[in-house]
Amino acid sequence: MITLNTPIENISPIAEKIAAKLKKLGIKTAWDLLHYFPFRWEDWTKIKLIKDIEPSTSATIKGQIELIQNKRSKWKKKLVTEAIITDGTDQIKAVWFHQPYLIQNLHPGDRLYLSGKTSLKEDGLQFVHPNYEKITRYKTTTNHTARIVPVYPLTKKITAKQLRFLISKIIHLAGKIQEWLPSSIIAENQLNVLPLAIKQIHFPDSQSALNQAKDRIKFDELFILQLRASLAKIELKKANANPIKFQEKQTKKFVQSLPFKLTDSQKIAGWEIIKDIDKNIPMNRLLEGDVGSGKTVVACLAILNTALNNYQVAYMAPTEILAKQHFTTFCGLFKNLPIRIALLTSNNQCYVKNTKISYPAKISDCKQKRKNIYQLISSGEIDLAIGTHALIQDRVIFNNLSLVIIDEQHRFGVSQRKALKQKNKESSTVPHFLSMTATPIPRSLAMTAYGDLDLSIINEMPKDRKRTITEFVPPEKRPEKYKFILEEIKKGRQSFIICPLIDPSDKLGVKAVKDEYKRLTEKIFPYTNIGLMHGQLKPKDKEKVMTDFLANKTSILVSTPVIEVGIDVPNATIMLIESAERFGLAGLHQFRGRVGRSKYQSYCFLLTESDTKETIERMHSLIQFDNGFELAEKDLEFRGPGEIYGIRQSGYHDQFKMAKLTDYAIIKKSKKSVNTLLGEDPKLLKYPLILKKIKEFETSIHLE
Ligand code: ADP
Ligand code: MG
Repeated sequence: MITLNTPIENISPIAEKIAAKLKKLGIKTAWDLLHYFPFRWEDWTKIKLIKDIEPSTSATIKGQIELIQNKRSKWKKKLVTEAIITDGTDQIKAVWFHQPYLIQNLHPGDRLYLSGKTSLKEDGLQFVHPNYEKITRYKTTTNHTARIVPVYPLTKKITAKQLRFLISKIIHLAGKIQEWLPSSIIAENQLNVLPLAIKQIHFPDSQSALNQAKDRIKFDELFILQLRASLAKIELKKANANPIKFQEKQTKKFVQSLPFKLTDSQKIAGWEIIKDIDKNIPMNRLLEGDVGSGKTVVACLAILNTALNNYQVAYMAPTEILAKQHFTTFCGLFKNLPIRIALLTSNNQCYVKNTKISYPAKISDCKQKRKNIYQLISSGEIDLAIGTHALIQDRVIFNNLSLVIIDEQHRFGVSQRKALKQKNKESSTVPHFLSMTATPIPRSLAMTAYGDLDLSIINEMPKDRKRTITEFVPPEKRPEKYKFILEEIKKGRQSFIICPLIDPSDKLGVKAVKDEYKRLTEKIFPYTNIGLMHGQLKPKDKEKVMTDFLANKTSILVSTPVIEVGIDVPNATIMLIESAERFGLAGLHQFRGRVGRSKYQSYCFLLTESDTKETIERMHSLIQFDNGFELAEKDLEFRGPGEIYGIRQSGYHDQFKMAKLTDYAIIKKSKKSVNTLLGEDPKLLKYPLILKKIKEFETSIHLE
């Protein structure tokens, strides 16, 4: 007898034949097969009379085979199986290619359903490669036609028909699947019970039955995700952290020393963080703020307080260029304070802020031996260590690391967090964590995706900012824009020019950065100093290019997308992007965020030779919206919720077969259920089935 635990090869001879392939899809047992969900469904429910069939439409008919035979096609001598089908109202031809064995299965007189596309050929209307299914006295239900038909994600050599056949063989076992959700939650949320949902997800009785089944599966996924996040949060609350006492006087003094007034949002976010790190349980917070909203200085408030408490801070940046820039920025901001800063990147370049040097200084004046820096960090003589991932990959040991900041990332991976936990000599405490991101994740979404994080949002720009003027520039207007750049340079401003790729052999006509640099220096701006930046430059050269641009020694920086995030050159007012259609809205918005960082009017020019409707619409939404949140919504429309703005990288979608982070209503419901459940039984002692499900979920996904 076949049960849920039956190995896949034993459920039928066909399954035995393709067992190896099924195993590659992770399907080892009948249970696994039932949990291999369709990713879309085709609705073939409506049955038409042959006389009403029109060319180039999709249709299902019910009829009888008059004639069936194999033939060689006239043209390419392809093997074709042709059948004539009648239903009493008319007759129609059906053709299949390369399936000569069909005539052993289908015979004149057989009654059957056909579902497929129709096409008008020289000898009349015909079905091309339709799905077919025989009707017999014993077989009253259909799997491939005349119903809502499931379509599965397939690998090459398993056919849709095989999979549907195998699942139909065991679909009755869905009734044996154990319900793991408490009945109160099912009732409250008006959910399908699991056996029903599993059955309907494969072979739905109707569109509404399918929707209900989908909702149940989505609920499960979102429920477990949020439950795990809540449990992680509870776990973290049990850990100890060093409380960082608020240094009110010094903080006020620091804020007054800034060349600008903090925005209200910055003050609120800063205060939320300061209050949070004052506790003896670790902070786990996401600071979200649009590009250029001033997150760095908010992080500074936390760094300042931590250092003044004689604890250490690690600050991780996503790129080397950015790490270096932050080193310079922090050295400047903290120049009158006894805060010792180190920069550690992967290429053996290390720097320490030295009290003898006045800031901002040339980075190379602060050079140090790597070994010395390790020593200084482990003895606690460094208060702030800035770096790329080298900071955690290298064998760096801290004396009392108490705050970790990661810039331009949504969150900290579990493994990274573990790595950092072990970085203290004595690991009795866990550092406070602050992640910063410009990715505008709506609060509701963040609550699901990052449910274990607290959220601070900077939702206003510094007051002196002018809205960056964004323009869509067709090729013929290019010279005009070059002229404009020259005028701005004359006023003392600077410009970025972004090209998508380095490789000149690129056949798609993409502007290659080296060629472009040559063209610009020789032909367009012969009397202007231009810098060239790309990922293949040696770190030393990158640094020189960046420092020269920052110091306004070069007026134009031609670059690949390496400078997308973080870079802060307030004097630059023009961002010209070549082949703009090649970038997503998120990327383009990030580039634009490199300008408009001062009181000067800034410009973003989107150059593109593409004039498709989609390009024009996308460019237009950038012109219309200068707010990352609104753009995220737009991006959602263009690309669909599966790829919402930047979130895909976080890996969260891998966990879902069915749910989307935009299923707001279900997110809300499942969240509420999680809260009720944990309120009543925080350790889930009464719910072993739920605990089991969490485990299942953890092993079935790729954890960070
Ligand atoms: P992001 O949030 O993108 O990381 P940054 O922290 O790099 O932004 O800040 C962008 C620029 O704005 C920097 O030059 C910074 O000095 C400046 N800035 C930050 N806060 C303010 C403010 N309140 N008023 C004026 N300028 C500010
Ligand atoms: Mg930043």
